[in-house]
This record gives sequence, C-alpha cells and structure tokens, in this order.
Amino acid sequence: MPNLAQIKHNPPSYEQGIGLYVHIPFCQTKCSYCDFNTYERIEDQIPNYVSALKNEIKAWSDLLSQPVVHTIFLGGGTPSYLPVDDIKHILSTIHSNYKVQDSAEITMECNPGDITLEQASGWSDAKVNRVSMGVQSFNDGLLALLGRRHTANEAKQAFHTLRKVGFKNQSLDLIYGLPHQSASQWSHTLDEAIELGSDHISLYSLQIEEGTPLAVDVKKGRYPIPDDDLAAEMYEEAQRKLTANGFSQYEISNWAKPGMESQHNTIYWLNEPYLGVGAGAHSWLEGQRFFNLKSPTRYVTAMDNNYKEINQGSIATMQEPFGPVAQIDVTTAAIDMGETMMMGMRLNEGVSHKRFEKRFGTALNKIFSKELDRLVALDLVEITDKSVRLSDKGRLLGNEVFAEFISEQ
Ligand code: SF4
Repeated sequence: MPNLAQIKHNPPSYEQGIGLYVHIPFCQTKCSYCDFNTYERIEDQIPNYVSALKNEIKAWSDLLSQPVVHTIFLGGGTPSYLPVDDIKHILSTIHSNYKVQDSAEITMECNPGDITLEQASGWSDAKVNRVSMGVQSFNDGLLALLGRRHTANEAKQAFHTLRKVGFKNQSLDLIYGLPHQSASQWSHTLDEAIELGSDHISLYSLQIEEGTPLAVDVKKGRYPIPDDDLAAEMYEEAQRKLTANGFSQYEISNWAKPGMESQHNTIYWLNEPYLGVGAGAHSWLEGQRFFNLKSPTRYVTAMDNNYKEINQGSIATMQEPFGPVAQIDVTTAAIDMGETMMMGMRLNEGVSHKRFEKRFGTALNKIFSKELDRLVALDLVEITDKSVRLSDKGRLLGNEVFAEFISEQ
C-alpha cells in the first residue's frame, strides 16, 4: 500500500448538496428483536422533542448557509406514529430553511398499523413522496413472534390505502432467518410482496441483538437459534424470485423496479455527505463524522440549553462535542478510503475507479492491490473496467469482504 500520509483526502463538500435524515425515536410498542434508538411509553415527550428538532434543523441551516437538500428521510422509530401536524411542521421547517430540490425524494418510515386514509393524505400534503413500510412478514404467527402490532392483512390494506392516496413509490421491509420460519413461509411472504405490486423491497437477515426480549427467549431455549444455512437459502430464493418478477438487485439487501432505487440510501452507499438531526442521528459532513446524544431527554435538554453553539461552530474544524453533538470521530484519508470501499461494495455496480481516483487522487487498484488479489483469487470480488464489485459468491459473504478493506488501516 502506498504511503497513506501522502494520500489526498478530498471528501465531497456539503456545498454540493446533502441528504437529510430526521430521527423520530418513538414507537407505540417495542418489537421483540429491535435494538434501534427508539422507545415506547414516552409519548409525553413528543411536543418538546419536535420543538427541539425544529431548532436543530434551523441551527444547522444557519451554519451551513441553507444547503441544497437532495433527499429527506424520516426514520426511527416510527415516524407514522407522530401526529400528522408534527410531520407537517417538521417538513415545512426543512422546506423554509434549506434549498430542498423540487425533485427531492422525501421518504417516511411507516408502521402498517398507523395507516389510515386521513393520515396518508396528511403525509402527502406534507410532501412525503415515498413510504417505507415495515411489513417484515406476511405470516401472522411470525409477526406475533416479532412483537409486531399489525397483521399480514392489515399490511396489505395499508399498502392499498397508500396507493389510493397517490403514493407511487412504496418500499417494503421484510425479515428472513427467523426462529421457526420455514422456507415455504418465506417463499409465501415474497409472493405476497410481489403480488401487492410494491416498487422496492429491502430484505434483512434477522440479527439477534444482545439485550432484546428475543435474545432472552433464544438464550432460554424458548426459540431455536436461527439456521444460517437456511437463511442463506432464503436470500438466494429472494434473488431468484424478485429478479424473475421485474426487480433488479442494486444493493446487497435491496431490490427495485426500474427507477425506484432509494436515492437517500444511495447517498450513504456512495459515502456522500449527509446531515442527521434528532436523538442519536449520525452525520458525515466535510470529512467529519459525528453523532448526537442518544437519549431523547438529554437531546432535548442539550438543544434547549446549547443549540446556539451549533451556529458558533465551524464545520471543518469541529473537535469537541457541542450542543446536541455527543461525539466527533476523526476521519483520515485511510479511514475514508476503507469506508468508501466498505459502503460502495454493497452496491451491485461496486466502487467506481473514476470516483475513487477523483476523491483520493490515487487509483483504487494501487491502494488495495494486495486485498484485491486475495479477494479475486477467492472469487469474492470482480474487477471490471469501470469498478470493483462483489461476485455472486461475495454477496453471500459481504461482511468478510468488507473487513478486508478496513483491517489494513
Ligand atoms: S416498529 Fe421498528 S423501530 Fe419500532 S420497535 Fe419495531 S422494529 Fe423497532
């Protein structure tokens, strides 16, 4: 590997536009497998939280001089659990303080249990134009095991309600590799998602996260440990079925109908700049990675007391936590290169030689020659004229491939 100290570190600037992520840390009930930064039974905090969020949105706009916004993503948690007026206020604050492009993709994560004609019309009025719905399964027994608060039928009705209101871009999240989930149940879930006519499907392999009720149940033997080989077969079954039904896989876990790829998530995969607002939200701006206080209560207090600090900061020289920011991580050229590879290799098109060289001033093949030789010999990676990308085999062993690019730093 060349001398990394001489590598140019030239991450794209926020002045070219950003993706904006808004975190909503509220759920009506907590699912048994979930370890996201989200909480049940703290609804009394919603008004103060929304007010803090609007202050943070304005403060960053001042510091970044009203940047262009390519995409907005309301994630959580369950944004659809918020009163519609709060969604309208959050989005109108963004529109009044940032240069949101007319073509901006504006996604909101929804729980099928929250979707009524009235709610959906309100989101549409607020300019939400893409919905990502956490369906997870079309099997009621598995939905109960996961602690989901909706049935398979309710998810289907929710999808039709959204269509009726005019949402043309609907993504469904599905989970595979669950305890007690058979191959035929998974196949049925895929069939239902295809039959509904969804435009985009994200698939997640269940991870049993320490500290969740599901992890306790598995540890106590109430549920079996999911079988990794069966999970790999389910992934391959999804590849076959979705491809045969007009979807293209464009990322390791994501399939889309033509033109329906997630623009917001593509910003992450290309390692382009984004701003995250809200409790625990992560940002990547001007070569600085940082994230906010995780606890909604502490976040609101920090915003009440210190939000003006954001306006007094300088994004390129941030070193100490300030306002709601809990931690800033130093990013070097070596770290940025590893992360660019790790994220970009998730995309089917891989990491473009041209983009890499533009960003770091050196050819990708030169920087990672040893790693690429090894991965190509193992048939995990392919090198084409345009890019370096995962092979079919590499897609099943993605984490092992990504580790190669991070471990050498
Ligand atoms: S709805 Fe989503 S964010 Fe909320 S607890 Fe369930 S999995 Fe977690």
